[in-house]
Amino acid sequence: MSSTLDFDIKLSDHRVPDAERERMLADPGFGQLFTDHMITIEWDQGRGWHDARLEPYGPLSLDPATAVFHYAQELFEGLKAYRHADGTIVTFRPDANAARFNRSCERMAMPPVPEELFVRSLELLVETDRDWVPTAEGHSLYLRPFMIATQRGLGVNSPSSSYRFIVIASPSAAYFTGGIRPVSVWLSEDYTRAAPGGTGFAKCGGNYAAAFVAQAQAVEQGCDQVVWLDAMEHRWVEEMGGMNLFFAYGGGADARLLTPALTGTLLPGITRDSLLKLAHDMGIPAEEGRISTDEWRAGNASGELTEVFACGTAAVITPVGRVKGRDGEWLVGSGEPGPVTMRLREELIGIQYGTHPDPYGWVHKI
Ligand code: PMP
Repeated sequence: MSSTLDFDIKLSDHRVPDAERERMLADPGFGQLFTDHMITIEWDQGRGWHDARLEPYGPLSLDPATAVFHYAQELFEGLKAYRHADGTIVTFRPDANAARFNRSCERMAMPPVPEELFVRSLELLVETDRDWVPTAEGHSLYLRPFMIATQRGLGVNSPSSSYRFIVIASPSAAYFTGGIRPVSVWLSEDYTRAAPGGTGFAKCGGNYAAAFVAQAQAVEQGCDQVVWLDAMEHRWVEEMGGMNLFFAYGGGADARLLTPALTGTLLPGITRDSLLKLAHDMGIPAEEGRISTDEWRAGNASGELTEVFACGTAAVITPVGRVKGRDGEWLVGSGEPGPVTMRLREELIGIQYGTHPDPYGWVHKI
């Protein structure tokens, strides 16, 4: 059975020395540094998953005709390992990442990775490279499982007959630098990210390749991030860059939240799902629905819509302060982080870093 595969373990002879690693961890940036090891597991039609290895981190050697280079049959996941004050290391809802990975696999005609094997791969890499899990506040070890099509050949009529699943790990600081600074967003009316029936809900690399041009346009327009609208009418808000969006109406005791529903064209964020549950349990009604750009603008103008924030694994919760589109721009509330945003952020980070209890069983000890 593939889910009980034994890993062949080959430890690196060239681990980064302790003092050097500590120096690197002092200022890791995001997604720039990598640990000493990686996981690789092979799949082919005859044998299924086999040749599971933990090996030294290093380059892959692939034939130039390998399928992934041509038709982008690739997908990935992103989650973090956190170090608690007592030294325990945990990941957050890795089973949810495994489930999303496998939904992506189905869309991309790729073989699913059994959940147990997916989670065991993460555990083994984090256990082996545990000294790379940062101690500084807000830092973590970002885990990147991914899968590539490895068949050699340029045939375009059928999916690859072989794949490699790989996990690498990257010690990382906060995604957005400068603390909890509200971001400004550009409403993308020239480009769309995903259409009905497409791959919007899947975490495939192609979605991100097609997004760079819109993100560059956002930056040209003086904004930090792009916000995607629906592909059919270009008016319904979907998500922001690599994060989902929440809208808060009415401050204080009457606050309620809205997040765009999972229509198939946006990524079902695990942070989004966690916040829907957390908000509900904190007495903040939270519903999935839809909001147009006109409603967003009108809500901010009338003061009914008080806060907007984006959420995702990398940057946790980030307030949106300013919105710009072809028809002008406006501020969200005062443009500063609001109380609902900050309460949810503190609660979620508290669970992840072990300073708040976890009644949900989300935290997974390594
Ligand atoms: N939307 C997109 C397009 C993303 O890439 C991500 C990051 N995975 C998210 C939303 C947020 O998802 P999660 O909360 O699972 O990180």
